Amino acid sequence: MTAFPIQVERTRTLKDKPDIHTLGFGQVFTDHMFVMDYTEGEGWHSARIMPYQPITLDPSAMVFHYGQTVFEGMKAYVTATNEVLLFRPERNFQRLNHSNDRMCIPTINEAHALVALKELVQLDREWIPTAPGTSLYIRPFIIATEPYLGVAASKNYQFIIIMSPVGSYYKEGLNPVKILVEKQYVRAAKGGTGEAKTGGNYASSLKAAELASKEGYAQTLWLDSIENKYIEEVGSMNIFFKINGTVITPALNGSILPGITRDSILHMLHSQNIPVEERRISVDEVVEAYENGTLEEAFGTGTAAVISPIGEFKYGEQQILVNNNEIGLLTQSLYDKLTGIQNGTIEDTFDWTVI
Ligand code: PMP
Repeated sequence: MTAFPIQVERTRTLKDKPDIHTLGFGQVFTDHMFVMDYTEGEGWHSARIMPYQPITLDPSAMVFHYGQTVFEGMKAYVTATNEVLLFRPERNFQRLNHSNDRMCIPTINEAHALVALKELVQLDREWIPTAPGTSLYIRPFIIATEPYLGVAASKNYQFIIIMSPVGSYYKEGLNPVKILVEKQYVRAAKGGTGEAKTGGNYASSLKAAELASKEGYAQTLWLDSIENKYIEEVGSMNIFFKINGTVITPALNGSILPGITRDSILHMLHSQNIPVEERRISVDEVVEAYENGTLEEAFGTGTAAVISPIGEFKYGEQQILVNNNEIGLLTQSLYDKLTGIQNGTIEDTFDWTVI
């Protein structure tokens, strides 16, 4: 690998660390951040770690107007033996580059990004919380910085990594959530940007999420944009069903984000010889399974919650209860196993964690 020089400017005043018992999600940030610039003709340059601070952008910077931006989300954990573990970080940088390609942003060198991330995490390692369920959330992102009001790909960009200690997603253990099946709005269209992790996908999901929340539902179940019939994702998670002993998840189709947790769960299921299908699945099929008593479990997967059990779906007037609103055995065991691998308490036979 070519050398990747990173200039490091340490902060002079370390910030107070938050109380880990009251930690929320994504509100507190560590002492340092990584920054790298892209200039047309020069490529990516000026890699640096510097004190966490506001950035200055021209009001005409293209990211503000046309949303040319991509991001990632991953976590670092500290083990009982004081080792720091990243979970499949190379997959996040690979996905960042897929998103870059879709959004006409120049790709980054994935190996260099991992070097930068390791150095940043090492510098701020005291920020990684140690209480059960807590972790350091890592947010790499790229923004279009060229000051220009024309609709085109920007000539300049900034790649930044910030980090935030986060509390346990489940304060009182896993908890099944209620989901509203969204019949009017879609998250991502066929041929659109659903497969990319880009800001616009999230901005356009807010309206439906607000409506669901007003009706007392935790998340939106997103359907396909053409027939409004096939299940895509749940909130900002991928979704799995267990029906009559078989685990089913929607096949990746261009509008579904290829989740790294989804991929990990699929590997775990295969290794346990549990029947798995990646295919289209309609809401009608789930309703039918509920009615004939074969709908056994349902859960969402994503970096933030890892696994989120689903206790109920509402589809128009129809209420679909899953496993009597209780956590299924498979859901619980996958959660225990995956979080165990991530935090180093269970042997990582898949070779996923990176020290
Ligand atoms: N779908 C969407 C829309 C997401 O934003 C995320 C979170 N990145 C996921 C699924 C889950 O992906 P991952 O398991 O890689 O966190």
